[in-house]
Amino acid sequence: MNEENFRLSEKLVSTSYGKCPEEGWSESTIELFLNELAVMDSNNFLGNCGVGEREGRVASELVARRHYRLIHGIGRSGDIAAVQPKAAGSSLLNKITNSVVLDVLRFSGVRSVSSCFVVPMATGMSLTLCFLTLRHRRPSARYILWPRIDQKSCFKSMVTAGFEPVVVENILEGDELRTDLEAVEKKIEELGAENILCVHSTTSCFAPRVPDRLEELAAMCANYSIPHIVNNAYGVQSSKCMHLIQQGARVGRIDAFVQSLDKNFMVPVGGAIIAGFDEDFIKEISKMYPGRASASPSLDVLITLLSLGASGYKKLLSERKELYTHLAQELKTLADRHGERLLHTPHNPISLAMSLDRLQANCDKAVTQLGSMLFTRQVSGARVVPLGAEQTVGGHTFRGFMSHSDAYPRPYLNAASAIGITKKDVELSIKRLDKCLKSLKKETKEEKCESASSPSGPDDQTVPST
Ligand SMILES: *Cc1c(COP(=O)(O)O)cnc(C)c1O
Repeated sequence: MNEENFRLSEKLVSTSYGKCPEEGWSESTIELFLNELAVMDSNNFLGNCGVGEREGRVASELVARRHYRLIHGIGRSGDIAAVQPKAAGSSLLNKITNSVVLDVLRFSGVRSVSSCFVVPMATGMSLTLCFLTLRHRRPSARYILWPRIDQKSCFKSMVTAGFEPVVVENILEGDELRTDLEAVEKKIEELGAENILCVHSTTSCFAPRVPDRLEELAAMCANYSIPHIVNNAYGVQSSKCMHLIQQGARVGRIDAFVQSLDKNFMVPVGGAIIAGFDEDFIKEISKMYPGRASASPSLDVLITLLSLGASGYKKLLSERKELYTHLAQELKTLADRHGERLLHTPHNPISLAMSLDRLQANCDKAVTQLGSMLFTRQVSGARVVPLGAEQTVGGHTFRGFMSHSDAYPRPYLNAASAIGITKKDVELSIKRLDKCLKSLKKETKEEKCESASSPSGPDDQTVPST
């Protein structure tokens, strides 16, 4: 199938397949659709004989079924968005996925997003690809301005691309850690705009850090003609994060924003969406991808969105929001009961933090002990952040690592209400957390504090790498 034939077939399907269907499709309808796509790929042609080095041959029938016989992946050697003549079905799948995903980004709040594509790499590597693309536009730039967020992959995404991250510490406002706009501007003046590759900001993050001041950063980037890349890792699920991106693009400059497929769409880890407002720039990024790419992340997100439908996805979003409120209330009650405090972080729509001042005051070790206790009791995702952890990432030493700050005034515990969370998740984790805090209190009363044997858990429990 050549480009022209492809364009013809695209015309046939584009109008009906371009959007996420309002109501989800049945499993058998989706399978029929995928089979239709698969028979358009040359490896499934009945009369096909192959004499090339990549012919879509698969030894295991189980593997073939796992991929619905879509074996050729997506893209051509030079461009992940290009049509693959040997694989019209896979190419069509890729285009349909990208346009369905674009529709979802729009109705989730970034109404003016103009273009996007799915990449089979997680968020960190996808950010790297964005930075590498910008290098061609700004050959003399060495620095990336980065309001600090303590997530190793964010930092590594810049180092791996060969740039020098310039860490801008956050400002403490009440309990919240917020973007220091003055410090960002000072750095721009100091380093010179032409030497700065881009500003790399973040929406979704662990409390007490809150999403960056995107509007102001975007306006600053426009003012100094500096590109702006936004890490929106799990922000699609929050209308607030999406609204920030929409507003940033409206009043200033956002060149691309990147979001994780698994964190936002409940699919296996391994994919991300790179999106933006300038079609040419997004195309340029997709052309940076060397070689062909796995179609699996595209296939998984397409199946997911077709089966949920727009209404199913929106329902998940509203349930998440309701459970955020519920989790906040439950954490507040728990905090009160233990002489702690739910930190006041109203600008963070997903993650919450509860102080561990009292626990720390009673016993120095208790805070890290709580981390391993929660791990042993299968409360996953709860994150204990002690004071003063130091960590070196990519050659840079962070003081107070995990807390997004050199000197956050107190230790705390994080919990998040992320897409797919259930009432049972909230209730069980609060119950177990309560038990852990009670038993730690008992231990300190019995003066077992210093000698208390810490329940086994991995050593790095308090410093998770993801
Ligand atoms: C998860 C996450 C990342 C890294 O994502 P990967 O998909 O593991 O590369 C980066 N930044 C933030 C804020 C995240 O939450």
